[in-house]
Amino acid sequence: TNKKNIGWNFDNTYSQLPEAYFTKQNPTPVRSPQLRIFNEPLAKSLGLEAQTLQSQEGIEVFSGNNIPDGGFPLAQAYAGHQFGHFTMLGDGRAVLIGEQNTPTGERFDIQLKGAGATPYSRGGDGRATLGPMLREYIISEAMHALGIPTTRSLAVVTTGEEVMRETALPGAILTRVAASHLRVGTFEYSIRWGTDEEHQQLADYAIKRHYPAVEADENKYLSLLREVSKRQAALIAKWQLVGFIHGVMNTDNMTISGETIDYGPCAFMDEYDPETVFSSIDRQGRYAYGNQPGIGRWNLTRFAETLVPFMHEDQDQAVELAKNVLSEYADLYQQYWLDGMRAKLGLVNEERQDESLIKVLLQVMKKYNADYTNTFRALTIDQLEGMTLFASQEFKQWHEQWKDRLSRQQESKEQVQELMRKNNPSVIPRNHRVEEALEAAVEHGDYSVLKKLLDVLSKPYAYSPDQKEYCKLPAPSDRPYQTFCGT
Ligand code: AMP
Ligand code: MG
Ligand code: MG
Repeated sequence: TNKKNIGWNFDNTYSQLPEAYFTKQNPTPVRSPQLRIFNEPLAKSLGLEAQTLQSQEGIEVFSGNNIPDGGFPLAQAYAGHQFGHFTMLGDGRAVLIGEQNTPTGERFDIQLKGAGATPYSRGGDGRATLGPMLREYIISEAMHALGIPTTRSLAVVTTGEEVMRETALPGAILTRVAASHLRVGTFEYSIRWGTDEEHQQLADYAIKRHYPAVEADENKYLSLLREVSKRQAALIAKWQLVGFIHGVMNTDNMTISGETIDYGPCAFMDEYDPETVFSSIDRQGRYAYGNQPGIGRWNLTRFAETLVPFMHEDQDQAVELAKNVLSEYADLYQQYWLDGMRAKLGLVNEERQDESLIKVLLQVMKKYNADYTNTFRALTIDQLEGMTLFASQEFKQWHEQWKDRLSRQQESKEQVQELMRKNNPSVIPRNHRVEEALEAAVEHGDYSVLKKLLDVLSKPYAYSPDQKEYCKLPAPSDRPYQTFCGT
């Protein structure tokens, strides 16, 4: 049927890649889908008619029961290093139904997560449960509002079917919107199972879709590596600056576009500690907060390995070229992080000792178990109360040095505060708040808590009085917060 009135403007350029890179796959229809949460601003930005989308016509699409004209549903093949070990993967429970061409000329993948089994399901049921899909919706939209590149969430529907986990849980489907779903793992798959020609076709496709500016470069595959490295350096610096812990930075969860993807066991850090890990399966702390920048480089090295064969006739020279780009990543990351930290502290000009000023603050925060977000929030609004940190001699000394440092730049107090407000979110998706919203929705069918939370998280830099409640920490608990891979 024609769904043009909704504004779908679908095609699927990925389906023109070699056949080995995907399998044509329809979503498995579901019994009685119901729309639970819907992203009106995102729908509008995609050129979609928000009103009609929320009717049965839209729900049929979000549930996989109907594919808009021009769509070509498929499951992507990919591989990846999971916790350091190479594995064959692929979309085991996701179907890319098509690419939406927006009125402003952008292209976005529209993917249904939880749409049924595919040839890559490896024994899984291809389904998703409501809690984790709502969690991805909340955190991905919070990340977007924080100004961090990310896949977006358009809708969550329940399927009316139960999904068996440890117990029977309500099934759900998330409609995910992404610049693309190309991953480092797509290239790892391709270099092993594609011909040279096919692999170059994939690389050319990625360049055309995400980095058209390098298309004419003499060594475009080296340029591709450099551009992806830059985006990842910028992205991971942003994660670090807000205290976001991805939790499962496997190479199949690192995009070529530079968007954050795959919100499984992720969570925001409370007390500042580089060793913070929330994921129950990350027992070695491979993906701890402080390890994320280094893991970024490890993953980019896996990406580089797939491009080295095409960078130079002389493979020794190709390796040198790639190594240089990977060292640039480390420098760039450091620069982005330092610039971001300066902004968090209201520093406009640069002084050599800035890095040590920042590091001393972080050390003292760690020593006094200071909440990461609330420390910077307190500095921003200049209300240093209610935290052990602020009473300490070390902090007081640091604070004097910071004040001195601020006095060595021309900006007024107001200007400094404005810069700090723009760089220090007052609200983040705090774990207990997310849990509370999920419990109300999943256990009691009450979505009001979730909607209120989404509203607050949509303005993280507003510093409005109604947000104060959301800055509070949870009651002390004897069990540390734990996350699980989205089930
Ligand atoms: P993730 O941890 O979300 O990155 O997923 C790792 C791999 O497991 C991906 O290939 C997923 O498609 C697959 N997977 C996760 N859950 C399921 C499921 N319920 N059924 C089939 N495949 C799944
Ligand atoms: Mg195929
Ligand atoms: Mg994944």
